[in-house]
Amino acid sequence: MKIICVGRNYAEHIEELNNATPREPVLFLKPDTAIVLKKQAFFIPEFSNNVHHEVEILVKINRVGKHIDKKFAYKYYDEIGLGIDFTARDLQSELKEKGLPWEKSKGFDGSAVIGKFLPKSTFSNVNDINFRLEKNDKLQQSGNTSLMLWKIDALIEYISKYFTLKIGDVIFTGTPSGVAKVISNDTLTGFIENTEVFSIKVK
Ligand code: ZN
Repeated sequence: MKIICVGRNYAEHIEELNNATPREPVLFLKPDTAIVLKKQAFFIPEFSNNVHHEVEILVKINRVGKHIDKKFAYKYYDEIGLGIDFTARDLQSELKEKGLPWEKSKGFDGSAVIGKFLPKSTFSNVNDINFRLEKNDKLQQSGNTSLMLWKIDALIEYISKYFTLKIGDVIFTGTPSGVAKVISNDTLTGFIENTEVFSIKVK
């Protein structure tokens, strides 16, 4: 499986990092080795002093597709999840400055938390899902999928122009504002509406 991530998909997050609003979705990939295994902690890598959490709605692909039209995109997923795109922000800034790919800062081991998936049928509208991240039991990030610059179906159309989507692939749809540094002993807990879908300790 592969993990396709979308950058800069929420206006307030673009502002907090002083990025320009893109005219097309920003895409990058994480390898499957980035996934934190169930019940494991997140270990801050030695090459970074500024790892940020980015909480993101996830979409799990359930059939193979290429050049998927937006109006048929809903047929390609039936589960929605929540996860964290851990980002070594210091390393990413350095790479961005040099015009180099971000992979090392985004795809390192442990950089992808994938929480429990919920059936799409749980939601009356996938473009109106509330989600949040609590850090040590305090609200740290919150969002609603209505605030995405590119909604789920538009992302599937766009991504599948470049990458064939396969069963089990996961799309990270971008983070709202509130990204921040994690430190040892933090606990990060994710909720879709009021259902807890992951809880992970930082070490
Ligand atoms: Zn992200």
